[in-house]
Amino acid sequence: MPLAFISIGSNLGDRVENCIKAVREISSFATVLALSSIYETEPVGKEDQPYFINCVVKIETELSPSDLLASLQSVEDRLGRRVEERWGPRVIDLDIIFYNHLVIETEELTIPHPRAHLRRFVLLPLSEIAPQLVHPFLNVSISKLLEALKDKKLVVKVGEFPSVYSQKSTAYPQT
Ligand code: ATP
Ligand code: CA
Ligand code: CA
Repeated sequence: MPLAFISIGSNLGDRVENCIKAVREISSFATVLALSSIYETEPVGKEDQPYFINCVVKIETELSPSDLLASLQSVEDRLGRRVEERWGPRVIDLDIIFYNHLVIETEELTIPHPRAHLRRFVLLPLSEIAPQLVHPFLNVSISKLLEALKDKKLVVKVGEFPSVYSQKSTAYPQT
């Protein structure tokens, strides 16, 4: 079954709770295989906004990339994301970073996520759960991308998901 990595972010409302809710919602249509720690991160792109909470989740799913995107967008809607300016504050943001080793570029969906390899708030959490994963066309591992990264924005580990969401939980079986 396909494996995918989803980057989760929130900088409005109860940011950690929003991320927890997103994981819970994702687990209704995909199997959560691994979760990074929870990080607080300095905003990128548009700096005049609250710090984000970010994490990365590894999932297994039968959904096609475009169906996965649609499911993630409906989670964003349910959690109360409104149409906002790009890179502005948001209750929740769910981005597909990788989907197997797939490389696609359509109007609605680019995989791998075109800016993931430039972002510490993605690579650092990702390096916890997939350090040896090789980027499909850069052909470099996540840990090497992180070593070479120029992005110096603050990315600070602030906690773990509650144990019910941890990798050992029977709620999210491992393969
Ligand atoms: P960034 O993409 O730089 O992280 P953003 O997350 O703020 O910016 P959004 O406004 O959330 O951008 O998304 C804009 C559009 O990006 C979405 O409507 C979606 O169609 C498209 N998109 C393209 N590739 C992806 C991807 N890999 N994951 C999620 N959305 C994507
Ligand atoms: Ca994003
Ligand atoms: Ca997005």
